[in-house]
Amino acid sequence: TRFTDLPISDDIRRALTILKYDTPTEVQQKVLPLAFENLDLVVKSQTGSGKTAAFGIPVADQIIWEEKKPQALILTPTRELAVQVREDITNIGRFKRVKAVALYGKEPFSKQRDELKQKTHVVVGTPGRVMDHIDRGTLDLEMVKYLIIDEADEMLNRGFIDEVEAIIKQVPSDRVTMVFSATLPQDIESLCHAYMQDPTYIEI
Ligand code: AMP
Repeated sequence: TRFTDLPISDDIRRALTILKYDTPTEVQQKVLPLAFENLDLVVKSQTGSGKTAAFGIPVADQIIWEEKKPQALILTPTRELAVQVREDITNIGRFKRVKAVALYGKEPFSKQRDELKQKTHVVVGTPGRVMDHIDRGTLDLEMVKYLIIDEADEMLNRGFIDEVEAIIKQVPSDRVTMVFSATLPQDIESLCHAYMQDPTYIEI
């Protein structure tokens, strides 16, 4: 699979050229065709494999710019990863002016609340702070069509899995769900089984 074989819009294609993403990495070759068919995916892959763009390209591509409420929710186990993913999505979606916001602890809640009052297409965040915003009514998930759980096994290691589950329950069920994980322990498998629609498993 090449990028040109996929139904990627011109705005996103131009961004990939500037980012010098000339050929898809292995995970992108396997994930992108299925992601563009809006299938639920469980992807076993390591960091550094290009997994961010594997979900970032289809998410940025499907964003409807005019919609004010978040259309994608991406959960990450750490603040650093949240910031990185926010940056990657912003870069991939630059010509579409995709607006991504990162939510994590150790940054004032009020700053994030004010950001969320503006048009926000994509929310990237750690489970604790995302749950905080849901509880306090500052994050509206009603228009979310894409739910991505990144580094799911790390969520488990850090004891975030119950929070992740509580957040999943708040996302409309008419959505696409993708789970990325280096390993697939039983607790992650169970979560996938419970909250995904007949997911396709991809191993790199
Ligand atoms: P990730 O696994 O998402 O953290 O990506 C690892 C690195 O690969 C990042 O620096 C990306 O910018 C880069 N990258 C992702 N996809 C491609 C691609 N198709 N071609 C070249 N570099 C890429």
